[in-house]
Amino acid sequence: MKAVVFEKFGEAPTIQTVPDPKPAADGVVIKVEATGLCRSDWHGWMGHDSDITLPHVPGHELAGVVVAAGKQVSRWKAGDRVTVPFAVGCGRCFECTSGNHQVCEHQSQPGFNAWGSFAEYVGIEHADTNLVRLPEEMEFATAASLGCRFVTSFRAIVDQGRVTPGEWVAVHGCGGVGLSAIMIASAMGANVIAIDLTDEKLDFAKKIGAVATINASTTPNVVKAVKQITNGGAHMSMDALGHPTTSFNSIANLRRRGRHVQVGLMLGEHARPQVPMDKVIAFELEILGSHGMQAYRYTAMMEMIRTGKLKPELLVGKKISLEEAPAALMAMGSFEGIGIGVVTKFQ
Ligand SMILES: [Zn+2]
Ligand SMILES: [Zn+2]
Repeated sequence: MKAVVFEKFGEAPTIQTVPDPKPAADGVVIKVEATGLCRSDWHGWMGHDSDITLPHVPGHELAGVVVAAGKQVSRWKAGDRVTVPFAVGCGRCFECTSGNHQVCEHQSQPGFNAWGSFAEYVGIEHADTNLVRLPEEMEFATAASLGCRFVTSFRAIVDQGRVTPGEWVAVHGCGGVGLSAIMIASAMGANVIAIDLTDEKLDFAKKIGAVATINASTTPNVVKAVKQITNGGAHMSMDALGHPTTSFNSIANLRRRGRHVQVGLMLGEHARPQVPMDKVIAFELEILGSHGMQAYRYTAMMEMIRTGKLKPELLVGKKISLEEAPAALMAMGSFEGIGIGVVTKFQ
């Protein structure tokens, strides 16, 4: 099969012909029909992720068709249209058996500790626990765009952030994660403030539900601006970018007993940011992480998509070919266009 391969961190990946994957006894092989481009792939390529061994095939936001299933697989067969969360749970550890596959102790992450989906085919372990069936009407590109940023935002807003109607939600950063969060929080009935450095992304944020925007490049004090708009601070706030400044602001702009959810990755030199711990104590703030979402929780999200309350297809950006993927991957560190770029052409 054809795959995007990198042999050294930070050096240009190339398209290579590599052996086709074979299904594990409890796994499947999926013919990849669409795979999203994500900043996590860029972090992995830069060498920020210690799970990656070289040579490596990136890609973790995938949708496609099952072509082969191992002997122990009972729920899936060739021809099934599927997607999968980026954190693939073992189904047997304490976290999995208590329903928290997203933090499985033995999770496999295709595109990180296993070869990923920037390829014609990808192998996925523990298929019965992790695969998610796609609704007939859902395009592969839309399904691929759910796999990481949309589901992580769903869990961040709904399960971790526990957003309720009428609350103020601040979203710092309007890339794929941020825009997903804005759409989901609005659908939950919250009042959402979008914060970004570019008016273009803020205009788009308004179109998908934000009721207020702050351009951080022209606003001297973002925390003060959020507190003014919300009459005292956000109830829930998210750092969707993953930067010491946005993370700090997202905690500092909360009202008493507010919840901060960190979704943007903090790796390398950014891994240990400053936290306004004085405020965390005095205001009884909660600081939470959000790491993907369990396959079984996709059901609620899929129903909100089916009924039109969530429209992830609006967040799909550029569609490109596998040949164009290496250049697009290398560019993720410096620039992210509006929406989620997706590879949809593999030949
Ligand atoms: Zn991702
Ligand atoms: Zn597990």
